[in-house]
Amino acid sequence: MIDQSVFSSKELMGMEDKYGAHNYHPLEVVLAKGEGVYVWDVEGKKYYDFLSAYSAVNQGHCHPKIINALKEQADVLTLTSRAFYNSVLGVYEKFVTEFFGYDKLLPMNTGVEAVETAVKLCRKWAYEVKKVPTNQAKIIFVEGNFHGRTLGAISASMDPSSRKGFGPYVPGYEIIPYNDLSALENALKDPNVAGFLVEPIQGEAGVYVPDEGYLKSAAELCKQNNVLFIADEVQTGIARTGQLVCCDHEEIQPDILILGKALSGGVLPVSCVLANDEIMMCIRPGEHGSTFGGNPLACKVAMAALEVVKEENLSENAEKLGIVFRARMQKLVEKSDLLTLVRGKGLLNAIVINDTPDSDTAWNICLALRDNGLLAKPTHGNIIRFAPPLVMTEEQLNECCEIIEKTIIQFKK
Ligand code: PLP
Repeated sequence: MIDQSVFSSKELMGMEDKYGAHNYHPLEVVLAKGEGVYVWDVEGKKYYDFLSAYSAVNQGHCHPKIINALKEQADVLTLTSRAFYNSVLGVYEKFVTEFFGYDKLLPMNTGVEAVETAVKLCRKWAYEVKKVPTNQAKIIFVEGNFHGRTLGAISASMDPSSRKGFGPYVPGYEIIPYNDLSALENALKDPNVAGFLVEPIQGEAGVYVPDEGYLKSAAELCKQNNVLFIADEVQTGIARTGQLVCCDHEEIQPDILILGKALSGGVLPVSCVLANDEIMMCIRPGEHGSTFGGNPLACKVAMAALEVVKEENLSENAEKLGIVFRARMQKLVEKSDLLTLVRGKGLLNAIVINDTPDSDTAWNICLALRDNGLLAKPTHGNIIRFAPPLVMTEEQLNECCEIIEKTIIQFKK
């Protein structure tokens, strides 16, 4: 095997560029090590990670408890496929359903697979339980959504960069404005509507937080119309926004809950769909599955990842530090002409730059932040998302705020 430690950052970036597909545009930094809230590049420079692999590393990099679970299980049994039972899956399913309060779990790997699973489950429920005529089921999505990049997910997207050039698209989707209850009420008049699929906070779109009460009222409208309320909590779930899942802020339980990312503690792909029996039992053997979904290694890792969330009070920490962070950023917004606002919940936040969405200002600020020892990424030309690992201390957060403040004050367009 090639020893990658002999290469410089420049050489490694060159290799990705030459041999890898160009489907991402990474910030120029090559990471070689991570621990807690920190990452180090190939040359040994240390950074605060303020992205957490798009909120997959909420428990911090290489958390010892999660890595131990991985190592112990890796020595015993890693993959059996679902052709046979395995000694961990049932224990995991019991653990997670009790953790989140549902009857059943369907295990998958990536976030987008879990979204796809939820859509299939919702359609199946529509035909079997709601009695929607064959092939007429409709799912409502909202503008600005991000659910991943499979054909199913991009069919619901309005983002030209994920859609253009990949048609034809999956039918049966309707897109309505986000945070608009009358649009939802109107869309729900169609008796063939099976589900309403929504992110409780739109992460990729730029951390758009809907009005207080929107999710609760949307869930009630769905209930009144016999439509499933489906929450994509792939990014907002697992303590990120200051509650175990973001819907907890409004005390609602989605009919279908989609989880991914930090369910894995950032170690390997683990996602799942949770629902009660009336919905979940609509799927029967052979109708949906995945070779890797529910593998013993992933199940062990995910249980450790969720235990860490509880044991280390990560929801409470995200809530507390989020308030400190937004207060400091709000002061910065008032001081700097470069920023227009800060928004977010818990430790999922964004600052909006006083520039157009197609400008390169946010990108250039992220380069300056990198040079000052903090890694973040724009979601658009004028929005930077800030989502550090939730194991951060207040002292570390304050140090990060100082880096951001210094960078913004010194930044020249
Ligand atoms: N849903 C949401 C809300 C997401 O933010 C993402 C990824 O960012 C996905 C789904 C897709 O997850 P994955 O990249 O693991 O497929």
